[in-house]
Amino acid sequence: MTLNRRQFVGTGLAAGAALGLPRMAFAAEKADVVIIGAGLSGLRSAEILTEQGLKVLVIDANTRVGGRVQTVQTADGPIDVGASQIGRGYARVIDACQRHGLKLVSEDRDLLAFGSHFAGQWIDGKTWATNPLNLCEGDERKIPPNLIGQALASKYNPLEALDDWLDPRFAEYDISLRELLVRKGHSAQAIELAAYSAPGIGIDETSVLRMWQEEVRSRIERRIGEAAAPAAAESGPKREHPFGEANDHREVGGLAAISNIVGGCSALPLAMAAKLGDRVRLGKRAQSIALSDTGGTVTCSDGSTYSGRFLICTLPFSMLREVEITGSANPIARQAITTMPYANTARLYVTVERPFWKEDGLPPSISSDGPMGMFWAIDNHTGEGAHRGMFVLVGRTAQAVSALDRGEAEAMLIAELARLRPASKGAIRVATWKDWLRDPLQRGCGFSLAPGQVNAFARDMVKPWQVMHFAGEHTRRTDFGMESAMESGERAAIEVLERTA
Ligand SMILES: Cc1cc2nc3c(=O)[nH]c(=O)nc-3n(C[C@H](O)[C@H](O)[C@H](O)COP(=O)(O)OP(=O)(O)OC[C@H]3O[C@@H](n4cnc5c(N)ncnc54)[C@H](O)[C@@H]3O)c2cc1C
Repeated sequence: MTLNRRQFVGTGLAAGAALGLPRMAFAAEKADVVIIGAGLSGLRSAEILTEQGLKVLVIDANTRVGGRVQTVQTADGPIDVGASQIGRGYARVIDACQRHGLKLVSEDRDLLAFGSHFAGQWIDGKTWATNPLNLCEGDERKIPPNLIGQALASKYNPLEALDDWLDPRFAEYDISLRELLVRKGHSAQAIELAAYSAPGIGIDETSVLRMWQEEVRSRIERRIGEAAAPAAAESGPKREHPFGEANDHREVGGLAAISNIVGGCSALPLAMAAKLGDRVRLGKRAQSIALSDTGGTVTCSDGSTYSGRFLICTLPFSMLREVEITGSANPIARQAITTMPYANTARLYVTVERPFWKEDGLPPSISSDGPMGMFWAIDNHTGEGAHRGMFVLVGRTAQAVSALDRGEAEAMLIAELARLRPASKGAIRVATWKDWLRDPLQRGCGFSLAPGQVNAFARDMVKPWQVMHFAGEHTRRTDFGMESAMESGERAAIEVLERTA
């Protein structure tokens, strides 16, 4: 068998690694555009640029493509431990699924009713307004404790257009939610309770402009369904907690409010990468990036190098800050890369062997102010037998659990559930666990912006750095989730095409 140059280099590297040989520098492989990161944003850029006839190489440190789209095969079937939900307004993601022949189905992760456990007590949302524990004031008193963060953040949201969050007219709101609530005269308890249910990292750590961007996008997502089927929207499931009690399965234009990809979400990046063939190189961890006005070179930890007339960097800044970048001075990008905070989420996916809520009579799902955060009980549509469940940790609880090893975290969560719900003892079987802060190629689940950072750098940080363009969900302008990764991949590809035209 004769090997072509690429196969030879690949085989040589693999053999060298197996023999423990020292790292060697190889002649740079050249392309028109080198894309760093094979998540959805990088793959989307690669698709467009390849279609336009450019020579593209995509490198990723992982041994799989997809980044924060990850389907894990478990004894209980495939589980998406990263992104899974596709909204009706995800034009790019839906289009990509169609192009790659992937089937969408209505999400069946219907959450069962939530109970709130706060200050050592079960709180009934319906009687919370008159509960003696309720020290909130005025209208605040009517908002259940597990909804107050989102409700108060939303109440003052003045943004209407998707990119208003970047409009200097709203610069005064680049403050924390706590500061906003203090300015608006909210009670101490409302502010304290908001800390448990506010979106983002926390009420002190996240700019409200960042929270409001997501909220405006969600509002538009909801309107897409309502505009298409107003009568159906009227009769649809009502939200009694932040995540929708039961998913809305009614189809509008052939799509439910939330869809999943049959077989798991990883099918999308896998299909995109398969089409790109050997343009995608895995196990290539970028260690340094050298920029000039005429080209860029990426050096990986195994000594391989990739040079391009242009680079597209999609690495989350939580990872890019570990890469040495040399080139022109770019204080805005450097500030963004080194200081942009990342939120975390950790989740324990379980099988609930028997519906223990039928034994203790409490609501199946729980929102708590304790170390467990939330437990989501997921409907199996028969009421009896095994159900799915998920411990969901965000903000403070996610931060705390990340200090534990996997075994300790699992034991703590199951014990905490049993403490609050003795009937759950022996009913919980672990399917899988994912803590995104501990993922060595992510170090967090999604970007955030601290108070002051929208004004300091968010508007300008996506400008190209010499020949390097930025993509990735953290460079979004208008969308969210997977759709924002696709949006950013398209923007970066178009920027490059404009420069090559
Ligand atoms: C738990 C969770 C649930 C989510 N749920 C949803 C959802 O239901 N719906 C939705 O729309 N969105 C959801 N999202 C968000 C969505 O997953 C992301 O917005 C999107 O996948 C990000 O894509 P990306 O290309 O920007 O980044 P990534 O997917 O993170 O891609 C970056 C790539 O860079 C690689 N990399 C890192 N360091 C290096 C290096 N030094 N050298 C080379 N490569 C490197 C990584 O391996 C990774 O593949 C969720 C995210 C998480 C974490």
